[in-house]
Amino acid sequence: MKTIQDDFPILSVLENGKRLVYLDNAATTQKPLAVLNAVESYNKQDNANPHRGVYELGARATKAHEDSRSIVSGFLNASTDEIIFTQNTTESLNLVAYSYGMEFLKEGDEIVLSVAEHHSNLVPWQRVSKVTGAKLVYLYPDAFGHLTEEELDQKITSKTRLIAVAQVSNVLGIEIPVASIVRRARKAGAVVVLDCAQSVPHMPVDVKALDVDFAAFSGHKLYAPMGIGVLYGKKEILDKMPPFLTGGDMIGNVHEQSSTYAEVPRRFEAGTRNVGGEVGLAAAIGYLNSLGWDNIQNHERDLMIRALNGLAEIPHITVYGDLSPDKRHGVIAFNVEDVHPHDTASLLDSDGITIRAGHHCAQPLMEYLKINSCVRASFGIYNTPEDVDALINSLKNVRRWMG
Ligand code: PLP
Repeated sequence: MKTIQDDFPILSVLENGKRLVYLDNAATTQKPLAVLNAVESYNKQDNANPHRGVYELGARATKAHEDSRSIVSGFLNASTDEIIFTQNTTESLNLVAYSYGMEFLKEGDEIVLSVAEHHSNLVPWQRVSKVTGAKLVYLYPDAFGHLTEEELDQKITSKTRLIAVAQVSNVLGIEIPVASIVRRARKAGAVVVLDCAQSVPHMPVDVKALDVDFAAFSGHKLYAPMGIGVLYGKKEILDKMPPFLTGGDMIGNVHEQSSTYAEVPRRFEAGTRNVGGEVGLAAAIGYLNSLGWDNIQNHERDLMIRALNGLAEIPHITVYGDLSPDKRHGVIAFNVEDVHPHDTASLLDSDGITIRAGHHCAQPLMEYLKINSCVRASFGIYNTPEDVDALINSLKNVRRWMG
């Protein structure tokens, strides 16, 4: 019988002579044949510069570009003119920071972030703060990694103008209370920027139901190619924003001394687009929809329970954040006592198991947790109970190997 694993050619590649146990899905995911074939077919049959050629091939490329936008808008429950294609989450967040933040924030305003933010949702706001004088205010999670109502009450105030938070942390794997944050943001008159890089691979995200103002994600963490990302923005807000990057394709008319700009979303899509990537992203969304989100979530929850139970049985392991599988999505970060995270990851690599070691682009969180780094195992749709058992069995040997 055909399995999900059969859809992913890379899973049959041997690593160090062993079966590949790919557990670094939070860094990037592997690509199914549905995506690889869609990209290849676009490049073989439909490739041209969209919106430029008047010939039939150009029309097909434009259709591929706009059809992909339509599939992404359905995926997030947005309108097509609220979907901007970028390279990745990082570019999406920079677009908001440079276009919205630099334009509308000023001294006396406050930008609220969580200390658990990925650097992509932190460094751009440091730049905005430096240039505009708006102050950065940090939310700190409790001992279980949760943002409490008291913390939100204290930090989101009448001075708050923008709140930028990840729906799911790439280290703790814990989902934040988006509804509570949005409710307070509305009261304060602030906009909410949601980093969905680690949420969209694991749960349906409905931007209208969440009522966030912006949402960003990367295709490559959603089984699509690298180099394609998405920014959702509410139309009425995007309409007021100046361009981020300027040049071809984003203009209305250009004169020697001045230019007018295209309507959104094209105002924010300067230069030639990565249409192959967009087609791949649309194919990845189609593939996930065909698996069914209930099936995906039940499967990943089972893996999470198995992994947390397995880790709990190994002495000398500290798992960061809430241990309840209901509160986590896709990610478990931990350390093995007295073993450097890089050594743990290298030892597992010799068993064909890929996990990430380091600060995970979340240095302020590492400081807050009072650690330099940690290891992180992260799951995707093709992982199996055998993958989890391989992780646990290999981890059981780490301290012995290092002893
Ligand atoms: N935000 C979060 C929560 C992430 O986990 C990542 C990547 O790990 C990013 C942003 C940045 O994603 P990218 O490197 O694809 O721009």
